[in-house]
Amino acid sequence: MKKMIYLIVAMMMVMMVACNGTKKEKTDEFKWQTEQFADLRVLRYQIPGWDELTLKQKELVYYLSQAALCGRDITYNQNYKNNLLVRNTLEAIYKNYKGDRSTQDFSNFLTYLKRVWFSNGIHHHYSMDKFFPDIQTDYFTTLLMDVPPEQLPLKDGQTQEEFTEEITTIIFDPEVAPKRVSLDASTDMVEASACNFYEGVTQQEAEDFYAKKRSDDLKAGNNTRISYGLNSRLVKKEGEITEQVWKLNGMYHPAIEKILYWLEKAATVTETPEQKAALDKLIEFYETGDLVAFDDYSILWLNDQNSDIDFINGFIETYGDPLSMKATWESVVNFKDKKATERTIILAGNAQYFEDNSPVDPEFKKKEVKGVSAKVINVAQLGGDCDPTTPIGINLPNAEWIRKDHGSKSVTMENITYAYDQSSLGNGFLEEFAWSPEEIQRQREYGFLAGNLTTDMHECLGHAAGQLLPGTSPDAMKNYHSTLEEARADLFALYYIMDPKLMVLGLVPSMEVGKAEYDNYIRNGYLTQLVRIQPGKDVEESHMRDRKLIATWCYEKGKEKNIIELLERDGKTYIRINDYEGLRNLFGELLNKIQRIKSTGDYETGKELVETYAVKVDQELHNQMLKRYKKLNIAPYGGFINPVLTPVFQDDTLSDILVTYPDDFTGQMMTYSNEFSYLPARCKND
Ligand code: ZN
Repeated sequence: MKKMIYLIVAMMMVMMVACNGTKKEKTDEFKWQTEQFADLRVLRYQIPGWDELTLKQKELVYYLSQAALCGRDITYNQNYKNNLLVRNTLEAIYKNYKGDRSTQDFSNFLTYLKRVWFSNGIHHHYSMDKFFPDIQTDYFTTLLMDVPPEQLPLKDGQTQEEFTEEITTIIFDPEVAPKRVSLDASTDMVEASACNFYEGVTQQEAEDFYAKKRSDDLKAGNNTRISYGLNSRLVKKEGEITEQVWKLNGMYHPAIEKILYWLEKAATVTETPEQKAALDKLIEFYETGDLVAFDDYSILWLNDQNSDIDFINGFIETYGDPLSMKATWESVVNFKDKKATERTIILAGNAQYFEDNSPVDPEFKKKEVKGVSAKVINVAQLGGDCDPTTPIGINLPNAEWIRKDHGSKSVTMENITYAYDQSSLGNGFLEEFAWSPEEIQRQREYGFLAGNLTTDMHECLGHAAGQLLPGTSPDAMKNYHSTLEEARADLFALYYIMDPKLMVLGLVPSMEVGKAEYDNYIRNGYLTQLVRIQPGKDVEESHMRDRKLIATWCYEKGKEKNIIELLERDGKTYIRINDYEGLRNLFGELLNKIQRIKSTGDYETGKELVETYAVKVDQELHNQMLKRYKKLNIAPYGGFINPVLTPVFQDDTLSDILVTYPDDFTGQMMTYSNEFSYLPARCKND
């Protein structure tokens, strides 16, 4: 399941005013954006509050940050089996090429390398499509010929010419691995996806394998609530299907061994017994690969509420698998922003109110909302699938039964949203796409608060709300699951951002905050998010589908009453909300509909909803958006350079850990590849 909100970069670009309503000045001395290439821009984030941590806390963060870097190669290999081969080859060229580096061709080569780093592989991190270098294969061959053979990942007995043929095909052939994750339900999605979670098995075989495993476990009286397939690759060899488990002495052993080295050090400097218990259990999970241990760990992690430092490290999110079973490796190390957390404490403390008063049919509501905990954090290290591109909010664990029985932990990553905000001041986006000066003004005044509050509610209330009817499988929505789940969480947040209760709770100064969010959400869902899609393509990514579903459905349903209106001015299309209360009612209606679909496992209705409203793009409108956006010269996707943590010793005793903020993306990526690469270029995959 997918529980991460991705930032609509474009949406955040417009926010110029802090929560307290005072105008933020652009901080000149810190360079928030360092460079831009292809459709990507490289940003930096700061770690506010670092100096308030104790030395022991800093030490803990440091060990966890090292563990976060040790799994980087796993993510590459999971995304596609030849990613490490490609990365190592490109880096060998980067290190060894003696020819002219000032040419356009070499610059295009570098852009390709940077794109590979940015996406942890050869597929776009968001669209999942394979991307290509803007150079000829002949030129690529000359680059390769400059590299001493011993610097290249040649197979035994392979000549450099044979290697060149092999790697050129992998990189340049559009027929080879065209898509990392295919969600096209009319195909065999496992075979159509290049991700490295299945080898030699069809979708049907994979589904049958886990269905049988579950029924065998049921007969044997074993725990059947585990997340089947979460930490393994499914392989058919000589007619037999087996799992290659990612664990110590299993697949990815060399990287996992290093992760464990740092986690064990971290376990010596924990803040609380609860944190220690969780960390020890995570170590056990890495050692055994036992999915029951993983669930135990998730519960212990939930119980760790009093520590300031927190982290995610492991096989967590299943975006990368078309069957949403197998999890990609990721890590986020963070600590609590105590001041900002007051906001989420109020929300979480009123979780039952929000559940009881939601516009959902009573039978689908939780009688008792359990343990919704939420906090605002500052990130100190990103790793794996969360690096360089990161979510801005996370809600975990993903296992439905744990969420129901034990609750979930929800975080908003404030220093990341702040970095997006700062890096995008005054880029002209809002002025281009908003209909009126009032809308722009409202956005400037309340947008930052509205965005953060909506994220808080999406994560800590939205995902935690509602319940399945007895007997409904949590996997019933299959390939539509993520879109519908994200839509459900968004709708919950949208419904309540306009609730006067938020004023009573002191969370918003006026209902203008809700209006700002509505303007922004509809404008983005209907119009501006289209700028992130290639001409002629459908909407594929779950969060984008979710937003399109909501905006389009509400536009269509509200047509008769003119609740949302499309307008033209100087040949440009705009969208305007005429009736905010009416729109709120539509959000409520759709929330109820989607909750019903999920609660009853009504796959057909869910499918119809998504296919009708969330997928197809109006070509003419799309072209217009792309044209207007191009003029602004803004890259739609942001990713981050991590700060560097450096231990300082006095007479062999740790005296401090210093933070520096490097500004060279290439330098950081090369450092990571030199110092934290633990899997071979030709990962044997067993
Ligand atoms: Zn979500």
